[in-house]
Amino acid sequence: MASVKKEFFDRYDDNGHIVMHIGEVFCRVPDCSSQTKQFSHTGNLRVHIKAHKDLTLPGRAKGAPSVEDKNASIAWYKSLFAPPKKMAVPFTKAGNIGIKEIKDFLRTKHVTQFPCESCEQANAKCCATPFVCEYLDRYYDVEESFDRPE
Ligand SMILES: [Zn+2]
Ligand SMILES: [Zn+2]
Repeated sequence: MASVKKEFFDRYDDNGHIVMHIGEVFCRVPDCSSQTKQFSHTGNLRVHIKAHKDLTLPGRAKGAPSVEDKNASIAWYKSLFAPPKKMAVPFTKAGNIGIKEIKDFLRTKHVTQFPCESCEQANAKCCATPFVCEYLDRYYDVEESFDRPE
């Protein structure tokens, strides 16, 4: 069985047992065949985790989870699902989209193909066509900067 990276679980108790979050139903062990399987409840996940011999679980906590535990769980779930923060679209002094600045940035991401596929298909000006350009969509907060066209 593959050894489990310690970092994969963000919380351990003082005894080195993993601390599962409230309501956690996915196995977090990399390459686990059950990784994409959703367990019906945390109890079933606990049973599954025991199959990972190098992980140990603490005894079941008695009573209701503490506020601290609940808050840690909420923060953890948020970190899983929060989209990466996107940048504001740059504009020139004249109020146009700052294409040069965008392309300069894209080069730092090793994006060198212009137009992008979406702009090519739509025959749109790459980096200057919000809601079409996939580069804008990937790195910039297009929703924040433009009204979605009807
Ligand atoms: Zn597993
Ligand atoms: Zn484009």
